[in-house]
Amino acid sequence: MTTEQKNIDQRELLKKVISDEINWRDALNIITSLKKPWHTKEWKEQRKILLASQCENCGTSTPPLVLQHTWHPTPIYKLFYKAQKKYEDEWLSWKQSHTIEVDTSSLLPDMDGCPKCGSTTIRYRKTAQTWICVSKPKGITCGNVFDAPIRVVSYEAIRNLEKAADQNLHDAFHEAFGIGKKVTITALEHNIRYLSLKDTKTFCKRCAFVEDKTNMVLCNICKNKYHSKKYDRCSSCAGKDTPENLEVN
Ligand SMILES: [Zn+2]
Ligand SMILES: [Zn+2]
Ligand SMILES: [Zn+2]
Repeated sequence: MTTEQKNIDQRELLKKVISDEINWRDALNIITSLKKPWHTKEWKEQRKILLASQCENCGTSTPPLVLQHTWHPTPIYKLFYKAQKKYEDEWLSWKQSHTIEVDTSSLLPDMDGCPKCGSTTIRYRKTAQTWICVSKPKGITCGNVFDAPIRVVSYEAIRNLEKAADQNLHDAFHEAFGIGKKVTITALEHNIRYLSLKDTKTFCKRCAFVEDKTNMVLCNICKNKYHSKKYDRCSSCAGKDTPENLEVN
């Protein structure tokens, strides 16, 4: 799919989701498997065009200058969380009337385990050339010593099956209440806005770092030091020495 990926037009995808030409689940799968936009050729070219000759924060023209996003798409799980909040009562009754059924009988043994208790927490002892079970459910160690393990269904395999069943339950609920489609549309709108590079600024490395990693802003008076948003100027400009100052080189 890698060669096709960059040709996915998210505007087209959005239209298809709105008109129900494509299921929101499939659309979400496409979006989440897309490669990061800044790895694409289009993105790199756009960046060259939009990059200004000086930092829009401190005014320096000393390279390297970078294009920084001032707005980011909301993570999809947060969109779901927000959308589902309005349906709290519906969700509770949905969970009660739709029990999760996990059929582990279809699972095939995928790991070595203890012949006595079936746990996969076992250890081979080189010197004795035997296995020992070190599983400790409820504080009591199994301690079974054996020559050869048996094949068992691992806890992870069961857990994965449970996770899938849980996801199906959520999917069905999101489908029934239009949440899935709504979230997918918002996610696509966010992606399209992000990809447009409309919300970007040219920053020098120093200002980009401060913007990214701290909650500081550049002092408007000296245009050199950064200070907490609580204050209107850095401590040097305020004529006092406080630890609120941040100097980045
Ligand atoms: Zn700067
Ligand atoms: Zn055991
Ligand atoms: Zn200052």
